[in-house]
Parts: sequence; C-alpha cells; structure tokens
Amino acid sequence: MQAPSSPDCPECGSRAKRFPPGREGQYHVFCKKCDHDFGRYDHLVADYRHLLDELEAHLGTSDNAPRDI
Ligand SMILES: [Zn+2]
Repeated sequence: MQAPSSPDCPECGSRAKRFPPGREGQYHVFCKKCDHDFGRYDHLVADYRHLLDELEAHLGTSDNAPRDI
C-alpha cells in the first residue's frame, strides 16, 4: 500500500517516506532520506484528509460526498 500524498520533508524536501513495521496507526513515519520524524502515521493521514476534504468541498468534486437524494 502506498501512503497518500503527504507533505514534503521540511528538512530535505524529499517525498519518500519510511514506514517502520508496527501496529497500524500507531507507528511514526520517517523521511526516507534524512530520517525526519513526521509524527504518527494516523495523525499525518488525518491532517491530510482534512486538507483534502476542504479542497474537495471547495471544488465540489468529491467522490466521497454523501448523496442527499
Ligand atoms: Zn528528509
């Protein structure tokens, strides 16, 4: 599984992430190049989802939008 598009590394600008083995949602994500700690994976995803939701709401093109019909 590939991680959802996530922020570039603030340290080196790399987008490559390293996912150490661990219980899903409880491990940290590290930059593949410089080992910068992005924090917990679930928090990273939650932040990104939040941004995505805002963007989709703004564009009105969400595929996941609940249908009112
Ligand atoms: Zn880095």
